[in-house]
Amino acid sequence: MSDIVITNATLLDPRDATLRSGQQIRIEGQKIVEVAGSVGVAQGATRIDAGGRVVMPGLIDAHVHAMAYVNNQVTLANTAPYLVAAHASKILADYLRRGFTTVRDSGGADAALADATRLNLFPGPRLFVPGLALAVTGGLGDFRVRTEHDQGCPHCRSTRNISRVVDGVDAVRRAVREEIAAGAHQIKLMAGGGNSGKSSIYSPHFSLEEQRVAVQEAADFGTYVMAHCYGVDVIRRALQAGVRTIEHANLIDEDTARLVADKNAYVVPTLSTFEASIFYADQLGTPAHIVEQVKMMLRRGVEAVKICRDAGVKLGFGTDLEGVMHHYQLHEFKIRSAVETPAQTLHSATIVNAEIVRHEGKLGELIPGAFADILIVDGNPLEDIGVFQEDGSGIRVTIKDGYLHKREI
Ligand code: ZN
Ligand code: ZN
Repeated sequence: MSDIVITNATLLDPRDATLRSGQQIRIEGQKIVEVAGSVGVAQGATRIDAGGRVVMPGLIDAHVHAMAYVNNQVTLANTAPYLVAAHASKILADYLRRGFTTVRDSGGADAALADATRLNLFPGPRLFVPGLALAVTGGLGDFRVRTEHDQGCPHCRSTRNISRVVDGVDAVRRAVREEIAAGAHQIKLMAGGGNSGKSSIYSPHFSLEEQRVAVQEAADFGTYVMAHCYGVDVIRRALQAGVRTIEHANLIDEDTARLVADKNAYVVPTLSTFEASIFYADQLGTPAHIVEQVKMMLRRGVEAVKICRDAGVKLGFGTDLEGVMHHYQLHEFKIRSAVETPAQTLHSATIVNAEIVRHEGKLGELIPGAFADILIVDGNPLEDIGVFQEDGSGIRVTIKDGYLHKREI
């Protein structure tokens, strides 16, 4: 990997939503080493003249399911592991094409997939993975049919599905240890019901004791818990247990949002999945009452972003797409624009998400010491997030981890 120098750059700083023209960036290996009006250029370095274009940090999506190549959980569970990985490689390449140089998986992706993109075996973002999400019997993430009791072949567990079923404090403790031993970066709990599950969207899953032991075990191993939560009771129990990132939070109210802020926890809204679910309802055969519920969840989810901002909650950026819906990823910006400025949403997708994956100063901004995850784009995303197109045409250069993935300048 040769060193890279970018010249004639208009540097976008998402921290304070500013642009600085006439900048140069020097990259050595994986890292940015210098950002200034003029930087030294080593012999043999690759030179990229940005032509005055905006140069910005790569986007981060803090809630994806890279292994979910299909919307049907039973089909996913019965697909051979190599085929799942092959599908995932395409999904990951698409994330990168849309400008996402980092993603945090929320169930399904394991350390092997993270290694594959780190080693550039196929193009894709850097991955923070939970392995399998933990779910309770009968709850969201228990995709067994009523007559099925076992959980499948243990050797195929990594692609059995996006989740595994565990009940009881000891079983949760062991499952957390197993996922971490298998390389999980964070632990995911299905802490409440979902649209696709057998339980109500308002039902909390896992007892307080089960959640507490997950949080404690994760902390003992130096990591944290992210939890699927829609309703207020679900969010409150997760907060009480010490969960660090509340996923979705569509049904949050003002009091609960203040509690999230007091606990210094994060909310990661994922709105595009609801919009995509409505669009694909017919094709996927979604029952009418679920479609109505999803419409309500989208409306409440947009309101939730405003409620959280007003309460001072740290808001991340996620999408939560599966199967045919993955191409809706950039719609998240459009949906959030109803209640946020482009600069606010960009701040979530860079600075806040870098904190969420615990890489503040290393990801989400272009400063010396940070990983070289860089986009050169046409237009100014602080004013018009429309520069990000599904086909990636607005992105002229993509660098991830110091590796030049795309160069169209
Ligand atoms: Zn979820
Ligand atoms: Zn999810």
